[in-house]
Amino acid sequence: MAKQPFACGECYRILPEPENKKDIVQCKHCPNAPVTTDWQGYVIILNPERSEVAARLNVTSPGTYALKVNIR
Ligand SMILES: [Zn+2]
Repeated sequence: MAKQPFACGECYRILPEPENKKDIVQCKHCPNAPVTTDWQGYVIILNPERSEVAARLNVTSPGTYALKVNIR
């Protein structure tokens, strides 16, 4: 089974694995946001302007997002 990816604590994007495994995972869009593997609910948002989930998460661009991110 694949390792749980990181999610951004601010915009809820699911973050891709870094190309260099030694790099830390960081959100391109929120450089100061915490990231965590502690999240639930994988959603793919294709049409943010027509998605209730996108509105709830404040998502404005298509992508993969976590429904819930647990930041300490
Ligand atoms: Zn982010």
